[in-house]
Amino acid sequence: MSDGFLPYGRQWIDDDDIAAVTACLTSDFLTTGPRVDAFEAAFAQAVSAPHALSCHSATAGLHLAYDALGLGPGDCAIVPALTFVATANAARYCGADVVIADVDPETGLMSPETLAEALQRSQGRARLIAPVHLAGVACDMPALSALAHDHGLSVVEDASHAVGSLDETGAPVGACPYSDAAVFSFHPVKTLACGEGGMVTTQNPEIADRVAHARSHGVVREPDRFERAEGATEPWWYEMQALGWNYRMPDINAALGLSQLNKLSRFAQRRRLLASVYDAALSELAPLVQSPAGRAGVDPCRHLYNVRIDFCAAGQSRADVMTALKDQGIGTQVHYIPVHHHPYYKALYGEQTLPGAERHYARTLSLPLYPAMSDDDPARVVSALKAVLGL
Ligand SMILES: *Cc1c(COP(=O)(O)O)cnc(C)c1O
Repeated sequence: MSDGFLPYGRQWIDDDDIAAVTACLTSDFLTTGPRVDAFEAAFAQAVSAPHALSCHSATAGLHLAYDALGLGPGDCAIVPALTFVATANAARYCGADVVIADVDPETGLMSPETLAEALQRSQGRARLIAPVHLAGVACDMPALSALAHDHGLSVVEDASHAVGSLDETGAPVGACPYSDAAVFSFHPVKTLACGEGGMVTTQNPEIADRVAHARSHGVVREPDRFERAEGATEPWWYEMQALGWNYRMPDINAALGLSQLNKLSRFAQRRRLLASVYDAALSELAPLVQSPAGRAGVDPCRHLYNVRIDFCAAGQSRADVMTALKDQGIGTQVHYIPVHHHPYYKALYGEQTLPGAERHYARTLSLPLYPAMSDDDPARVVSALKAVLGL
């Protein structure tokens, strides 16, 4: 058992990760080099997707995916209330509006029911939906995509939390059987760390092609695709055919990502084991504290261990519980403040109350979960929580 401070999440960097980055630093490529290609190929294979395109972050990946699907002014994107703001913000970068869907109060996920209600509010302007696999629990993609397709909408999975998770068919999240694209994050608190990094996976070669160009200014370098005659004779020629961005992943980050990806099965195994140790220990604290909700048939590689606590019944505020745990060396966090509570979205769309999101938000608390925790750490966390709640 570690006596040190347990943050709610943390990266795990080994000597071989450091060696991989060091080797990159002394190579010819610091950005857009062979490690980017190798990381993309290995990631595509890991999630059984035909195409994987790296980019600077999941935020950039969401923007690229929405853009590739034609999201623009006059349209709206439907995103769940319980997510990091990036899922919504990327639609705003496209000039589109956001309709914030309610979520299941237990899982915090967009459900077919909450999507149907959001579709009504979108008044025919929705162009895409972006369900989020919160904490690594896969949404009901067959049902969500069936509903989206009935309305002619595209589907982008925000899979920032879900590398290593399996859906109800046993397929890895990212294979995209029910979506146009999935987007992953390699922020250090996520399951794999690049520093900053993201990946877009898709089965659609046209989306892959648009993302590949838009992430680098919309510049085309393939001679057979040049529109201008100069391309045939001028060896320096490249041409910008559409507006893009600099959303490229540096080779340095890809070196780390590739090295981390080699450990995905080990990381995922640790996360599943630690979650099951927590689940068993927490049964003692029921019904005041409930382990994170799952969905039947899916196998999450949990990014967060987001328990549900009835703070009212416990007679304590969440702030007091967080502070008391912190004093005992245990870090916690709240995932998430609902998107519509943020001043920016409140100013745009007014005061909204989404009952499922409010109920989820009122009870959620993420306890420490990361692969370097010891097998005994969950017991330390649970006994501290028990004491703090006076149980
Ligand atoms: C972390 C996160 C993002 C953004 O990821 P970055 O790589 O930091 O841009 C988007 N959506 C969700 C659900 C996230 O947790």
